[in-house]
Amino acid sequence: MAKKIVVLGAGTGGTIVSNNLRRHLPDEWEITVIDRDDKHVYQPGLLFVPFGLQKVGSLTRSRKRYILKGVNFVIDEIINIDTAKREVTTRNHTFSYDFLVISTGCRVLPEETDGMEEAWGKDAFTFYYPDAAETLRQKLNEFDGGKLVMDIADVPFKCPVAPIEFVFLADWFLKKKGIRKKSEIELVTPLQGAFTKPKASAVLSEAAREKNVGMRTGFQLNTVNGKEKYIESVQGEKISFDTLVVVPTTFGDSVISDSGIDDGIGYVPTHHNTLQALKHERVYVVGDATNVPTSKAGSVAHYEADVVVFNIMAEIHGVKPEEIFDGHSTCFIVYSKGTSSLIDFNYKIEPLPGKFPAPHLGPFSLLRETKMNWKGKLGFEWLYWNVLLAGRHLGAPPTLVMAGKEVG
Ligand SMILES: Cc1cc2nc3c(=O)[nH]c(=O)nc-3n(C[C@H](O)[C@H](O)[C@H](O)COP(=O)(O)OP(=O)(O)OC[C@H]3O[C@@H](n4cnc5c(N)ncnc54)[C@H](O)[C@@H]3O)c2cc1C
Repeated sequence: MAKKIVVLGAGTGGTIVSNNLRRHLPDEWEITVIDRDDKHVYQPGLLFVPFGLQKVGSLTRSRKRYILKGVNFVIDEIINIDTAKREVTTRNHTFSYDFLVISTGCRVLPEETDGMEEAWGKDAFTFYYPDAAETLRQKLNEFDGGKLVMDIADVPFKCPVAPIEFVFLADWFLKKKGIRKKSEIELVTPLQGAFTKPKASAVLSEAAREKNVGMRTGFQLNTVNGKEKYIESVQGEKISFDTLVVVPTTFGDSVISDSGIDDGIGYVPTHHNTLQALKHERVYVVGDATNVPTSKAGSVAHYEADVVVFNIMAEIHGVKPEEIFDGHSTCFIVYSKGTSSLIDFNYKIEPLPGKFPAPHLGPFSLLRETKMNWKGKLGFEWLYWNVLLAGRHLGAPPTLVMAGKEVG
């Protein structure tokens, strides 16, 4: 009888897991990965689209091209997951499994905020998916001064540093256009600082102050009024805007909630360290679909994928899954066109200054703005398509390395 592993979602996490499993398991293991379409988007590049620094077309490639031969790639909508029967239903098929990996990511829902739909594409914009990023590019092209507000509607949201990068790049962009002096830029967030971790938050707040970017913290978005051009918080505080950019409310995919395996907002309750689904045997979760308390980021999906592959192989060999994952996350933070910072942290250890990835040598600098980090940010796209998606190893462990960090 065939031994079957089914992977749900062929984005960052699902592609790496599928390819990595194929590299390690013999042919008697059938590996199937399912996604609703054949368009893999390099999402970090979406940040650059509104500023004309990257084009949507160049960020989108065929998923099939990046899935190894020997992995069965199915294009279909997943509509139900039955963990009792160990079965997944799509519009056209039913798949049984011995192990299931859920990597269905998350989605933005502008319609969750009162007034947002009416303002969408006219007064309120986002760069979180390709069409919207292109619409925002056109809007920023026409922008002739005024107040640009970047608002985060709710937590959790994908790529916690992207809104900060957006306001920093907006500062660079408006200077380049020669209209910075007649423009105001404000970051509005439900968090208590620019980022979830206090030390990195302080560094980022200082950078925002130097760039004359305003910041409003603890603002829980309730409504958007496109006609009168203001946003209002749950507490009744109003902030006016000329152009509004938002990270809309973010939930996990509807198939997770429709199948009754979610935490109330579409994420799968997941063991923080083994990455097993808490209530379901032989089910693992990777990337944005988990509810683990670390960033929803591609780097995290990648580190988690390594742990999930290890633990599935351990289970196959009759060994208990290990509590390996530590919440490790690594993110470049663009400061302007030409410079970037970099953070590396986990559940317990905040971003620290130092060098990365080689201790003392780098070439990248942690928690500092450098030109080399910008080169790293740009070079990462090549690495993503050509090395990481294929499930190849760079030799680094998936957990945080303290060597090279400046403690104290
Ligand atoms: C603007 C922006 C900037 C970012 N910048 C960075 C960055 O600099 N660094 C970084 O590390 N991360 C960044 N990220 C985040 C990163 O892209 C994501 O965290 C990462 O892609 C998550 O991988 P995933 O596999 O969990 O989800 P995804 O890659 O989103 O894949 C999920 C897949 O599941 C499929 N799927 C979902 N539901 C179904 C269904 N019912 N049926 C069929 N298919 C389904 C989807 O089609 C999708 O392909 C950024 C994201 C954005 C939007």
